[in-house]
Amino acid sequence: MNASASDLRFFNTLTRRKEKFTPLEPGKVRMYTCGPTVYDYAHIGNFRAFLFEDLLKRWLEYRGFTVTHVMNITDIDDKTIKGSQKQNIPLAQYTEHYTQAFFEDIKTLNVKPATHYPKATDHIPQMTSLIQTLLNKGYAYKSQDGSTYYAINKFKNYGKLSKTKPQALKTGARVKQDEYTKEEAQDFALWKAHTPEDGNVFWNTPLGKGRPGWHIECSAMSMHYLGETFDIHCGGIDNIFPHHENEIAQSEAATGKRFVRYWLHNEHLLVEGKKMAKKTGNYYTLRDLLKRGHDPIAIRYLLQSTHYRAQFNFTLEALDAAHMAVERLRNFARRLQDADGAGSEGKIAQLLRAVREAFGDAMDDDLNVSIALGALFDFVREVNTLLDAGMVAKGEAEGVSAFIGGLDGVLGVIGEVEAEKTLPLGAEALIRERGEARKAGDWARADALRLRLRAMGVVVEDTAEGVRWRLVRKA
Ligand code: AMP
Ligand code: ZN
Repeated sequence: MNASASDLRFFNTLTRRKEKFTPLEPGKVRMYTCGPTVYDYAHIGNFRAFLFEDLLKRWLEYRGFTVTHVMNITDIDDKTIKGSQKQNIPLAQYTEHYTQAFFEDIKTLNVKPATHYPKATDHIPQMTSLIQTLLNKGYAYKSQDGSTYYAINKFKNYGKLSKTKPQALKTGARVKQDEYTKEEAQDFALWKAHTPEDGNVFWNTPLGKGRPGWHIECSAMSMHYLGETFDIHCGGIDNIFPHHENEIAQSEAATGKRFVRYWLHNEHLLVEGKKMAKKTGNYYTLRDLLKRGHDPIAIRYLLQSTHYRAQFNFTLEALDAAHMAVERLRNFARRLQDADGAGSEGKIAQLLRAVREAFGDAMDDDLNVSIALGALFDFVREVNTLLDAGMVAKGEAEGVSAFIGGLDGVLGVIGEVEAEKTLPLGAEALIRERGEARKAGDWARADALRLRLRAMGVVVEDTAEGVRWRLVRKA
């Protein structure tokens, strides 16, 4: 579909409504997503955010937009300094380790790379000049210790994103740490004067010796790469306050222009009903799950398959179900490769039309991926039935493969499926033996043989065309 002809709608946190999406520049989307704070390995809650953003970008591209995507790396803040001091290594060395780990992890999860990954420590001049503008315009002031603060009462729209009521704000009171609650809303630090606790982490700048606050980092880097007004800004809902509220205050006060047109926030990944977080210790890193033998693509599928604005409880059982779903799709793609049936008399074309529309409508409606996947699996089931009946001609199967390949550009879970390879030694005899056991009605023996084959990495299935097998990772 042509980008301008699309009918995309997104829920904008700013207005709390679904709005038709039209980018500033036709056919082009500029989007900023808050990246990782590289003080530890990211947990899969963080990856829920990054995978939602990946799905959003891929869907925009599917609809024909060219997307410029910026994801920052927060390599200087309260948490990174604390972490490097604990390990007694220089900040840059400490954050480099976790930055590389992050890049490895997103590659493992098949996340499409962003256009730019700016590091905060490489953009100190952009931050200080933005703070200088705020000082010049009277939105910022210096405190006695040499830090610079943002005066929230000067910005009349303060609170518009998080719906924090201005009268609830205590003016004159200040907060220096990066994270705080709505109830603690007050003047926040743009530039933090050097203290002994910061050790050797500081920059000598016109604002004095010190380091930036977290919120100014994202204002400075997003506007540097995407301009003073851009289309989409994402993050998890925990970022709405104070981080994104403060970004708006900083950017709009400095430029006098609207900062972001669509704010999209993902809900949290939960464990036993609680937000997955480092603080509470109820988290899995990607690496934890890979060590236990889980398929990273099943993790990708699981984290993406619930609508991004719904909370989602993570369980290992759900991960197993996600693995089965991915296997079903891969198996389907494989089956299509050897289809050479009589033809469906137009049924395939009809099913394709219907699924294209249903999948597209659901995704255009604020990325409703669960409805879209439901339509896809209905389609897979119906085509499988036609395949079982030998009713899918080669040309029709090619059409279905092309469609599935296009959708996989969005989902990123099937990849290249290989045609069946040769069976491991001894497997053929076991498959034969299992067939004989089934014929004799010896189901217990047939089941035992199926399990032995599974342990060898062979999955057997009984279809109308006889026994089929495929190779999977060894159990
Ligand atoms: P951080 O590295 O803490 O700055 O977080 C990176 C991203 O992960 C941000 O967009 C957070 O809002 C998001 N995030 C953190 N915890 C969760 C969670 N449990 N579920 C979903 N997103 C989360
Ligand atoms: Zn940010």
